[in-house]
Amino acid sequence: MAKKRKETNYRLVVYPDSWRKDDSYACEELKKDIERHVDGFSNIEINSDTIHYCEFCKTEWSDEEMNDGDVGACCKRDAESVEELHRLAQKKAEKK
Ligand SMILES: [Zn+2]
Repeated sequence: MAKKRKETNYRLVVYPDSWRKDDSYACEELKKDIERHVDGFSNIEINSDTIHYCEFCKTEWSDEEMNDGDVGACCKRDAESVEELHRLAQKKAEKK
């Protein structure tokens, strides 16, 4: 008996307009529009990816790009905030 191949579990993946892709509310609205106007499906789910980014410069966070000397900082403002946290921690430790 030879192994056979069969495609199964067909489904559509709907990609929203670029202006909606980072907005969960906009995707909920699109989902409601599809549910209201389209027949022939049993379920629509909204999925997303998770990224980590710097709160200061908004670039995507990558631990690999950081050097040991960078004290885990992404950019100048992040480095300043890390140094400030270290200063505060030292002050706290000195008070004890
Ligand atoms: Zn940054």
